[in-house]
Amino acid sequence: MNTHSIRFRLTAWHASLLIGVFLLLGALMYFGLKHYLEASLGQTQMRRARQIGGTLVANLQPKDETNLVSEIKSLYAPETNDRFIRVTRPDGSVLYASGQPKDLSFNPAGLPVLKERPEKESLRKEMLPDGRALLIAAINYAATSGQRYLVEVGSPTISMETMLGQLRLQLLIGLPIVVLVAVGGGYLLVARALAPVEQITRKAEQITQHNLSERLPVPRSADELERLSLSLNHMISRMEEGLLNSKRFVADASHELRTPLTVLRSELENLVVREGWTAEMPECLGSLLEEVERLAKIVERLFALSRLDAGEAQAEWVRFNLAELAATTADQMNLMAEDKGIAVTCKSSLEIAVEGDRARLKQVVVNLLDNAIKYTPKGGTVHLSVRSHNGHAILEVADSGIGIPPEALPHVFERFFRVDQARSSDLGGAGLGLAIVKSICAAHGAEVEVESKLSQGSLFRVKLPLAGKKP
Ligand code: ADP
Repeated sequence: MNTHSIRFRLTAWHASLLIGVFLLLGALMYFGLKHYLEASLGQTQMRRARQIGGTLVANLQPKDETNLVSEIKSLYAPETNDRFIRVTRPDGSVLYASGQPKDLSFNPAGLPVLKERPEKESLRKEMLPDGRALLIAAINYAATSGQRYLVEVGSPTISMETMLGQLRLQLLIGLPIVVLVAVGGGYLLVARALAPVEQITRKAEQITQHNLSERLPVPRSADELERLSLSLNHMISRMEEGLLNSKRFVADASHELRTPLTVLRSELENLVVREGWTAEMPECLGSLLEEVERLAKIVERLFALSRLDAGEAQAEWVRFNLAELAATTADQMNLMAEDKGIAVTCKSSLEIAVEGDRARLKQVVVNLLDNAIKYTPKGGTVHLSVRSHNGHAILEVADSGIGIPPEALPHVFERFFRVDQARSSDLGGAGLGLAIVKSICAAHGAEVEVESKLSQGSLFRVKLPLAGKKP
């Protein structure tokens, strides 16, 4: 038996609680009854002793002592009523003492005379030589003559003890029954309550990465267990989605790498079979180089993404001026834009302080400007701006390019997504630039969004917390 299991511990708790309550109630009942019986027996004896004192002893003269004896016998008949009565003179000699009762329930012979008389009244329990106990009420009564007589009235406690003994026996018989019910009932109750946990555990043990679409059973009990299995199921869903994403990512990555590799291979095969240095050779080598560059770019971007996934963006955390970074980057990209006849303009405030990895945030500006230049036809414009608004630095890259169709807008930040596969590949894109932008932004607590109209242009907006303002 597993003594650490919840089943065992709850059963043990339940059983000990019930047994504890039973013992406590039993003890309260037993001692309560004992106290009550003793008190009422004591009161009865005291009442009788007062009665004898008030009626027979009060006016007692030494010469009337024989009358007292016969009056006690006729009025109280202690032997017939199983009672003990004794009257002791002031000098300590016994005036009257009742004998053994008819039912022989006790034998008062040998009951010692009280050495110290009580001031007025007292109640005591005396053990008789025959092993029985007497509860005796004693009154030190002053007669009108001034003499003090000690009146003692007692009754055996045997019937009271029999009653208490019976109660003890009943409690003793009841205890094992209570233990049995507490342990058995507790075990069944806990087993019932924990049955869904058993089912959930068994199912959870069966779920592996190959059957992540399966779910744990949800007990419709509106309790903690229902919440637990619902949360676990949500967790499995998230894991399934993550696994699917990474599978898709690996498949997309291998697909992207395969195309340039196939081109490289066939071009190299052509070179091998060709004899001598032909006129097409430099052109052929140039195209090989282009493919190698494309491959290198994809690998570099994949590497950047995997590092961002591993949470490395915090490595070079510094405070810097985003406005200045944007302006210098726009200057550098201008060369590329001039070749295409596109004007890149930049408008920014003097200082917009942000905190983050400077190199990675520069990558964001480069990727957005690169796309804007790539997807804007000759003669178009690209405009970069940085401003601060409501505790945020707002960086916007707007172009007058080809725009993005509405159905593609929600997907542009996904890995390997390209609106027009063929044209994007021609421009050297593998659909990773915006995915990198999104990952960098997420690592900086920033948001990135896009607005676009087909054939009119696009606007990418990055919202980054200003330095000192927590995202
Ligand atoms: P790529 O490297 O192919 O450009 P990105 O992730 O940078 O990949 O962009 C994803 C897709 O979004 C691109 O293939 C392109 O179709 C579209 N896109 C991105 N930026 C722009 C833009 N400024 N204008 C029009 N289309 C864009």
